[in-house]
Amino acid sequence: MTDVLEISQLGNPVLRLIAQPVYSVQDDAIQTLIDQLLTTLTHSNGVGIAAPQVAASYRLLIVASRPNLRYPNAPTMEPTVMINPQLISHCGEVVKDWEGCLSVPGIRGLVPRYRRIEVEYTTRDGKRLRQELTDFVARIFQHEFDHLNGMVFLDRLDSVQDLITEQEYLKRVAPSTLT
Ligand code: ZN
Repeated sequence: MTDVLEISQLGNPVLRLIAQPVYSVQDDAIQTLIDQLLTTLTHSNGVGIAAPQVAASYRLLIVASRPNLRYPNAPTMEPTVMINPQLISHCGEVVKDWEGCLSVPGIRGLVPRYRRIEVEYTTRDGKRLRQELTDFVARIFQHEFDHLNGMVFLDRLDSVQDLITEQEYLKRVAPSTLT
C-alpha cells in the first residue's frame, strides 16, 4: 500500500497552474505518483482526482466512478488512469448537476457540463486510447480535466446562488445518504 497524499485545498496556488505534460509515462516517479493517487482517491471516498490536487502539477487524472456515500447513484467502473488527456469533441447538450471537490471541502455546486464527450488519453502502460464518455463519467472527466488547466468547479457556476453547503446537500438533494 502506497502513501495517502495530502490534498491541496482552494487557495493553494498549485490548483491555479497549467499542469505540465507527462513526457515519460514509464518513469518510476510517475508510476509511483499514479499508485499514490489511486490510494489517496480510495481513502478520500472520491470518484476522481487530478495530480495537481496532490501538488504534482502534471497532466494526469483518474476517473473512478462508483456508488459511495458522497455519490450514491454513480455507476461502477474500474479506476481509469488518464495521462496527457485531451477533450476531442463534445455534444451540444449541456446538463447541470451537483459536484463537490476534495480540494473544496464542505461545498457543493450545480455545474453545467457537456453530456457526451470524446476523449483521448495515454494509459499507464503507454497506450494512446480514444473513448466516448457520457453522463456522470463525462462529468467527472470534465471536472478533473479542469484541474489540469488551473480551474475548479466554482469557476464554472452560472451563479453563486448555485452553491450550497455539504450539510444542506445531504439534507435536500441526497437525503437517502443520511440513513
Ligand atoms: Zn476537484
